[in-house]
Amino acid sequence: MLVNSLFDEVNRRENALKIIKTILKTQGRTKIFDLTGLAGGFPILSEDKDLLETYAGSAVFEDAIQTLGKTHLGGEKILALNRTSSGIFAAIIALVNEGDEIVHYLPKIPSHPSIPRSAELVSATYKEFEDINKFKVGKNTSLVFITGSTMDHDVIAMEDFLKIIEISKTHNIPVFVDDASGARLRTIIYKQPRAMDMGADIVITSTDKLMGGPRGGLMSGKSDIIKQIKLKAHQFGLEAQSPLIARMVRALENLNPEIILQAFINKNDLYTALKNDFKHIKETPTGVMLSPESLKLELKDRDIKTDLTPNDLAFLFSMLLLKNNCIITVPAVGMPGASATIRIDLASKDAERTTNQYIVQSFSEALKELINITDNVNACNMVLYN
Ligand SMILES: *Cc1c(COP(=O)(O)O)cnc(C)c1O
Repeated sequence: MLVNSLFDEVNRRENALKIIKTILKTQGRTKIFDLTGLAGGFPILSEDKDLLETYAGSAVFEDAIQTLGKTHLGGEKILALNRTSSGIFAAIIALVNEGDEIVHYLPKIPSHPSIPRSAELVSATYKEFEDINKFKVGKNTSLVFITGSTMDHDVIAMEDFLKIIEISKTHNIPVFVDDASGARLRTIIYKQPRAMDMGADIVITSTDKLMGGPRGGLMSGKSDIIKQIKLKAHQFGLEAQSPLIARMVRALENLNPEIILQAFINKNDLYTALKNDFKHIKETPTGVMLSPESLKLELKDRDIKTDLTPNDLAFLFSMLLLKNNCIITVPAVGMPGASATIRIDLASKDAERTTNQYIVQSFSEALKELINITDNVNACNMVLYN
């Protein structure tokens, strides 16, 4: 096993950023294709700059985010946070006590790590379900999570969503929807209602995902619950500051569903083109993905035996795409513990500068090189950590 710990993942991420910096310096930004679907956008206007102060900025942008946030997410009150993970953490410390239980329904496990990690911090027990027929709450359950769309963009069925709401309501347990990408994928592509309109008590989305905003968490919910969470967020420094909120405001103003709908159509050609060489590639709503397990199967199909774990292979593949083809995917740059699935998102801004042919060729080259180095630990470590 090459990637043994979260520390290894931090090192891998630092190496990826170093490679990106080198490409930027030698070849410029236009040579890089960030196809993660995570925009990190900075769409502020020049008139916003003078307001990016602690209090003047808060006065203006915290007001604007209330209106725009409610249009996007529904609900009664908005809270802007540093990350989606920060919002999840704030909600759990506000609503869950030691010995309580958190249960989580998601279309496909595993959960984003921020939920089980936060549960552990407050000494709550944590259970997750992907089978709707097995889902149940216990007598100590104090918070139910629903993931609207997973890290790999598996989207929940609307009837399952409503069923979880119904079960939770019967037991008077608040429901928190992790709609990091789902707030757009579910509503724009699958025409599902907003989480708050389906009966959720709290929802959070990432303004970085499938929209041109910054990495940040935008939360909405019923006023009394948001007030409790907001207090905890302030106490622990989890709330977004005005420069971040300004970017969220402008990104919400610019939100264009057409880009997501177009990616939903364009992915079909990319999927067909990749399928020739990669039998195990799968479609996502706005692109394609190769999970660690699928990558291992690709090697198996080619009679390559290796002791490397599926995750090792995915990290290597992603780093090779970056090093050789300047394509950024999440397993190279992602946070420790995030999904190692190699996902190409055609809703990314850089997608319009690339072609299906370039992506297919890059995938084939990366696989060829991966096969070349699988039995050479040193070469693998060089690719991951330099
Ligand atoms: C991305 C994501 C998160 C966390 O977002 P951060 O900005 O990294 O905190 C949480 N849940 C899901 C389902 C996600 O896709």
